[in-house]
Amino acid sequence: MPQQTGTYCESCMMPFAKDPGTRESDRYCSLCFKDGKLQYVGNDLKEFQKIVYENMVKNGSNKLFAKFATFMIRFAPRWKK
Ligand SMILES: [Zn+2]
Repeated sequence: MPQQTGTYCESCMMPFAKDPGTRESDRYCSLCFKDGKLQYVGNDLKEFQKIVYENMVKNGSNKLFAKFATFMIRFAPRWKK
């Protein structure tokens, strides 16, 4: 589990190095945080994982990798209990 802060999105765990867009926030990737606000404001980890998974597959990610990546979201600072 990555311990560094400022390297990964605090919401979806995407490494900033892999961010396909232009980041607006120091803490979140360009997909999670856009137009000055979080794109998913809910509190449902499962629902959020589903959104990220579908986005990743839509953007051409390997399904197995997308599953792994979305599984890791539970360790993101935003979702830590
Ligand atoms: Zn993110």
